Amino acid sequence: MQDAIYKTLLDNLSEGVYFVDRDKRILYWNKAAERMTGRTAGEVLGFCCADNILVHTDEQGANLCLSGCPLSAMMTDGRYHEASVYMLHKDGHRVPVTVKAMPVYDEQGNITGGIETFTDNSANRLLKEQNAHLTSLSLIDELTQAGNRRYANITLETRLSEFKRYGWPFGMIMFDIDNFKVVNDTFGHDAGDKALQMVARSISDNMRSPASLFFRWGGEEFVILASNVNGRQLYDIAERMRILVATSFIVRGDDEIRVTVSAGATIATAEDDAESLTRRADTLLYRSKKEGKNRTSTDSGQPAGFADSVASS
Ligand code: GH3
Ligand code: MG
Ligand code: MG
Repeated sequence: MQDAIYKTLLDNLSEGVYFVDRDKRILYWNKAAERMTGRTAGEVLGFCCADNILVHTDEQGANLCLSGCPLSAMMTDGRYHEASVYMLHKDGHRVPVTVKAMPVYDEQGNITGGIETFTDNSANRLLKEQNAHLTSLSLIDELTQAGNRRYANITLETRLSEFKRYGWPFGMIMFDIDNFKVVNDTFGHDAGDKALQMVARSISDNMRSPASLFFRWGGEEFVILASNVNGRQLYDIAERMRILVATSFIVRGDDEIRVTVSAGATIATAEDDAESLTRRADTLLYRSKKEGKNRTSTDSGQPAGFADSVASS
């Protein structure tokens, strides 16, 4: 009876919850965990989360199963651990979550396992709610659910006039999927569409500031207009998104289809109009392509260190 009460309680939480034994094998997996990861309890019970299930990564794309896993840390020191990480959804995209790991003890005080909970961090949940309204105004791209080119143009003009009147800084990041033709040619147009959706989702789910907006510029090109950022912050956003895309995939039969993006990032100046800013972002994107793809080019304060730490992780 009591078990049934606990189970009902756990299954009705909005937080994902799972229990593991001392070997980090999953013993329990609640309904929110199923919703947030796309994996049913039947698919994960008895497995370790490192068995290609959650595969948490940090900002740099480093796999935390190897080092830095909050559950492992908790098993070692018996203390509560909390971390912001990216969890792998069954469909291949990454979901930003806060995970909390706490130990479970037996009567002798030995750690017998642990509990991990995770909550969805998507800062754009509000934005998703606004999407319904924007769809009715024909401002949303149907395939990717990102803002469409029309919405991008309107927003760009608004940001430029705000910058000129009030000095509110903003920047533009332009992304283009690398070698996308190969995806279409190898796996078919439908798979290409799925890959486009995956890229859009990887980026839009991980936008942190509601003041920054994400658009499908056309074909397999996307744009972020980021408000209140300096050059370094803009570069960091572009790199974070680039890495999230590179560590995501779609599943097609037995294949995992992966794509990368190249990016160009630039901050608006007082002399800019929509055309000059767009041209600059596009030229920087082209530089990323020429220098080998899957990278970000910027003319606005690339920090020393970030790219190095990415390369070494
Ligand atoms: P690069 O690394 O230089 O960007 O190479 P690429 O292959 O991505 O080059 P290109 O920009 O020439 O190719 C873009 C391809 O994207 C061609 C086009 O068929 C495909 N594409 C554009 N829109 C869609 C779409 O809505 N769905 C699918 N499946 N493919 C699309
Ligand atoms: Mg293109
Ligand atoms: Mg391309």
